[in-house]
Amino acid sequence: MTLGLAALLGMSVFAPAAGAQSAEADCRNLPTTPSTSGWTDYAQLEKELDRIERTSRGRVEVSSIGQTQLGHEIYAARVGSGDQVLLVTAEIHGNEKTGPEALLSLLKTLGSSGNPQVQAWLEDVTLVAIPKFNVDGAERNQRQNVFPWADVVEQFPQLEGAAPAWNYNARIGGFDVNRDFNPDLDYEPRAEDLPGGNLEPGFYLTNEARALRDLYVELRDEFGHVEAYVDLHHMGPCNQVDGDGQYVSVALDYPPLGPDDSDKYDAWPALDQERSRRYALAAAEGMFDKAGNGNGQSSPFFGGVTRYLHPEWRDLPGQARSSFALNGTSTVLFEVRGQQQAWGQKQKGMLTAVVEAGLVGIVERMADGSIEQMDGDDFYELPTYGWDQ
Ligand SMILES: [Zn+2]
Repeated sequence: MTLGLAALLGMSVFAPAAGAQSAEADCRNLPTTPSTSGWTDYAQLEKELDRIERTSRGRVEVSSIGQTQLGHEIYAARVGSGDQVLLVTAEIHGNEKTGPEALLSLLKTLGSSGNPQVQAWLEDVTLVAIPKFNVDGAERNQRQNVFPWADVVEQFPQLEGAAPAWNYNARIGGFDVNRDFNPDLDYEPRAEDLPGGNLEPGFYLTNEARALRDLYVELRDEFGHVEAYVDLHHMGPCNQVDGDGQYVSVALDYPPLGPDDSDKYDAWPALDQERSRRYALAAAEGMFDKAGNGNGQSSPFFGGVTRYLHPEWRDLPGQARSSFALNGTSTVLFEVRGQQQAWGQKQKGMLTAVVEAGLVGIVERMADGSIEQMDGDDFYELPTYGWDQ
């Protein structure tokens, strides 16, 4: 660990900002409601991506990678000409809304900034961003997508009579898309594999997962390797930093594939958890940079940056980031605290900025090569938060 980083991490969290991070009232885990006022919806996303593409004068390219069950396009925006690919998705869970805002803001900057530093990033990195991945879920402000089991069987007749997949919610009529991935990128759904479970890979049943898998394979064919993948989430419950009492702004994570000494994935030699931890640490450093102190002093900007633990039961190969990591991509999860319905404008702006800063932290360190000099185990210096195992 470098001295600078040690100093930074020694002050493991920033002091709470007055009114922004300390009040329990800001931290309620409210049930999902239809209210998404103030957040970018699908119609606004289309307009915004169109504007970003036009004003970028060719720097940003927007395309559709597929359609949801309700016929919405799943848009990907691509910017940069570097040979290192960073793939990012937001709103794989449709009620987790800071990610799209952060990605749109980053795309605006990368698409139109004349700053030489930004130009340098774009020479070394190609960003492919999907700002609103589970559009149908997002439009209903629900975690799951929309894909009734009868429609699944119509699309995959070989599943007639099989039990619905474990990640299907019959009441909602949709899937947790982030359990629908499989490290076998050629996998096709088979009745004998259903219903499955969280310790097993998913089935590529949903349009969303199939579209992202196809994009991943295309990028791998084009670039030889997909360097990194980031998935942007919210954690729902509002936790406090261990031993500290202030609230978590964001928790970062490397792939949840059981304990670090697990041998379950020995058949996947491309998995490199240490490398994923470097990328997660790069995100944390980007957040610290944004806090503007760099010396570990308390910041008026945001609260705690923490990490997840990896007990035996956190073994989720069906998550997109797990499946891609088993194929050799470094992957990072951002989980922003709380549910956005409980937030005021100030908190919305702050948490969106934290997410964007984390993405910039990764892009910057990929572009200048410093991620190669990092020690992924320094990630363990981040505090955990007070969750019940
Ligand atoms: Zn989520």
